[in-house]
Amino acid sequence: MKNTYDIIIIGGGMVGLTLACALGQQQFKIAVVEAYQPEDINLEDDYELRVSAISKSSQQILQHVNAWQGMLKRRACAYQHMHVWDATGQGNIHFDAAELGLDSLGHIIENKVIQFSLLEQCLKLPDVDWLCPQQVNEIDFSENQQTVSLDDGSTLSSKLLVAADGANSMVREAAGIDINKSAYEQKAIVAVVKSTLHHKDTAWQRFLPSGPLAFLPLSDGSCSIVWSAENQRADELIEMDESLFIAELQSEFENTLGKIESLSQRALFPLVRRHANEYVRPGLALVGDAAHTIHPLAGQGVNLGLLDAAALAEVIMQARTNGKNIASLNTLRKYERWRRAENSLMMYSMSGFKNLFSNEQATLSLVRNAGLNFIDSLGPIKHKFMRHALGLEGDLPEMAKIIGW
Ligand SMILES: Cc1cc2nc3c(=O)[nH]c(=O)nc-3n(C[C@H](O)[C@H](O)[C@H](O)COP(=O)(O)OP(=O)(O)OC[C@H]3O[C@@H](n4cnc5c(N)ncnc54)[C@H](O)[C@@H]3O)c2cc1C
Repeated sequence: MKNTYDIIIIGGGMVGLTLACALGQQQFKIAVVEAYQPEDINLEDDYELRVSAISKSSQQILQHVNAWQGMLKRRACAYQHMHVWDATGQGNIHFDAAELGLDSLGHIIENKVIQFSLLEQCLKLPDVDWLCPQQVNEIDFSENQQTVSLDDGSTLSSKLLVAADGANSMVREAAGIDINKSAYEQKAIVAVVKSTLHHKDTAWQRFLPSGPLAFLPLSDGSCSIVWSAENQRADELIEMDESLFIAELQSEFENTLGKIESLSQRALFPLVRRHANEYVRPGLALVGDAAHTIHPLAGQGVNLGLLDAAALAEVIMQARTNGKNIASLNTLRKYERWRRAENSLMMYSMSGFKNLFSNEQATLSLVRNAGLNFIDSLGPIKHKFMRHALGLEGDLPEMAKIIGW
């Protein structure tokens, strides 16, 4: 069997499916190859450990591909406030959606909910073939045609192959694209906790010298925590017995939401910064974590990936409208120039933030505490800072722009 497509996307995670929906709506013939069949959540079940803080621009993209309603009808928690403070001083900053005339600053959504709601839309599109569960066996790259052999013996071919297969992308590796990689020397512990006080629709983040601790609001009043700590501390925390871990967590969070009444299982993620040296080759493009991974301290990873998907879709659609080859290096370089610059900026900012805050040096502590308070006190600068953090500024794809804002 040999099937010919315009575009083959390897990886049906949040980013790959967003791209498939955006291009499938425009009658491109697409195959999405995914290794694991996503499952819908059961509303009676506990919250998933993996959640994402979805920015306003990501919300726009997900609305554009008609997947947003599916997320709201399952489980999503809008947050109106964000409160960030430093453990080594009095510095703090508070963001409020109302200050910007927005209904929320973003939503906390389980990754499983995002992926399944996207899949639901994809399956409605006649031009998208969902090939799952399927593993890639071999890829034959050439300038004009990409050929993918799957484990079941079938062969697919297309003009353009997109790697959306995550941080350890086998497509990127098979193409021989190198990455620039450095460990943040931290690991993130994620869990779901229930505390005696309601989260007040606020995303909370306290910067500890060993790494940031975030409490992200969930729709039943509980919180998803992302606790990033230096490797040794993180290893100790994950091994700690439950009552001791809860005591540490409460104390490091200054009992801000009262007592922790319950704790789910905990999961640990090593944090690594990766950036692919090339995003494109003739007939090949990398999107999402296959192209870059960053520290979760500002919850930007998948938001950058969704912007990649929207930008690549825009470049491909423009090329088709102008009668150009959608898979030529000339076309794809527009995507690379666009997104590499934006992603690099975010990656350097995150590394800078991480280094600035993971440091107990007295002068640095003074500078950052004064800085937080200074930004908090200045209306226009604070608003600009907020717009950046919410993904409302920068060179946004059309799909990501909020009309009339
Ligand atoms: C602790 C933590 C907290 C985070 N919090 C946030 C947050 O709040 N906000 C945010 O924006 N980001 C956050 N991120 C980052 C975010 O999770 C990632 O950026 C996002 O999951 C990347 O999506 P993706 O679709 O590119 O890759 P993935 O989610 O990794 O999806 C890749 C898909 O490809 C499939 N696949 C892989 N290889 C193959 C193959 N060979 N054949 C077929 N299929 C294959 C996989 O099964 C998977 O479905 C966080 C990350 C961590 C570690």
